[in-house]
Amino acid sequence: SSFGHFGFDDQLLKSVRKAEYTQPTPIQAQAVPTALSGRDIIGIAKTGSGKTAAFIWPLLTHLMDQRELRPGDGPIGLILAPTRELSLQIYNEAKKFGKVYNINVVCCYGGGSKWEQSKALEQGCEIVVATPGRMIDMVKMKATNLRRVTFLVLDEADRMFHMGFEPQVRSICNHVRPDRQTLLFSATFKKRIERLARDILTDPVRIVQ
Ligand code: AMP
Repeated sequence: SSFGHFGFDDQLLKSVRKAEYTQPTPIQAQAVPTALSGRDIIGIAKTGSGKTAAFIWPLLTHLMDQRELRPGDGPIGLILAPTRELSLQIYNEAKKFGKVYNINVVCCYGGGSKWEQSKALEQGCEIVVATPGRMIDMVKMKATNLRRVTFLVLDEADRMFHMGFEPQVRSICNHVRPDRQTLLFSATFKKRIERLARDILTDPVRIVQ
């Protein structure tokens, strides 16, 4: 299939085929090779474009490249999303493609049980999908930490800002090691997002859906 060009690991290729995806969407065709090369990305893309897999596949490859599982440790991949609904969608996509690797994914969102989410985090995981406010709560409760994060995704950044999460998003970015890889997705590219991109991305590749 045309996914062969990405150079994915066999296991990942198998689960992509199992999902019955026949060819990459335009955003995947552009973002996947760029992300695999280690570059930061600003992606202007909407829901339905296939943007979720465009960051999940490179993240899983990133994890395979440097996997050292230590129980109880914090995530290597952190994905921030504006809502419970979107974070659960991303979580399901990460589980779907990460299953073959035994990747542990935890989802934390506002309104869900803090006790359950903190217990899940304390088991240790490689990927966390979270809404920004709840992520900060979890770190403050010491349920997890951001020390291992080397792959950071901000999904629907414009919606996160709309919902008032700009301070939380910025605070989280400031607490993740600066030599991380960062992927920023937004449906629109207005001043505030442009400013964020300038502050948190390093020499990003711009991809427009
Ligand atoms: P997203 O924009 O990430 O929310 O994805 C929208 C929908 O498209 C989801 O249901 C995905 O599972 C599906 N999808 C993502 N990539 C592909 C692809 N390459 N071929 C077919 N379906 C896809």
